[in-house]
Amino acid sequence: MQILPSALVDLFYPNCCAGCNTPLFSHEHSICTSCLESLPLTESLNDPENEVEKIFWGRVPVLSAGALLYFVKGGILQNILHQLKYKGNEGAGEELGRISGEALLKSERFNAIDCVIPIPLHEKKMKKRGYNQCSFIAKKIAQTLGSEYNDYSLTKVTHNESQTRKSKFQRWLNVKTVFQTQQPEAISGKHVLLIDDVVTTGSTLEAAAQKLLETEGVRVSIFTVAYTQK
Ligand SMILES: [Zn+2]
Repeated sequence: MQILPSALVDLFYPNCCAGCNTPLFSHEHSICTSCLESLPLTESLNDPENEVEKIFWGRVPVLSAGALLYFVKGGILQNILHQLKYKGNEGAGEELGRISGEALLKSERFNAIDCVIPIPLHEKKMKKRGYNQCSFIAKKIAQTLGSEYNDYSLTKVTHNESQTRKSKFQRWLNVKTVFQTQQPEAISGKHVLLIDDVVTTGSTLEAAAQKLLETEGVRVSIFTVAYTQK
């Protein structure tokens, strides 16, 4: 029996699925086929009244908003997002970015994007963690859509203070001050797709979108991999 070198590598150093931790086949990348097929799709990207879009109604004028998946506590997606955020599992981020990009390409509301921007991490947090998990997803989405990837025009400038004792309005004000734009000419006049991994209250995305909209001619759409139902 002839064993291919890659199969031999898999035999001794099996890569495991970020969702279920079983060894991956060589044609699978970071997430196994069975986990990918079991992810709970919202199937609402084309619905202008989808739950994510409604979060932003009356708060910030975005062209389109949507999420690919539902976030279910204790589900496979939680394992994958944990691997991505805390273990720097870039491959898992790329897989989520790939399936997201393919869904966005098929959708009528997200297929004319000029520029993809991830929600940035603060510089201090970036140094500590070494990566922005959102950038793994956003880069792959940009590649799949054939759009430009921009991780420099939107930056985070101050640390969020502890938010637990603040009112909803205070928290909103606190988040609102943390984003800044740099080299606005790079996004001027463009349709920007702002990316985050999960959306819950939407306050971070709202603040980031408001900041981007200060640049002339910018239109903003929002996409998150997952949506947490309240
Ligand atoms: Zn799996």
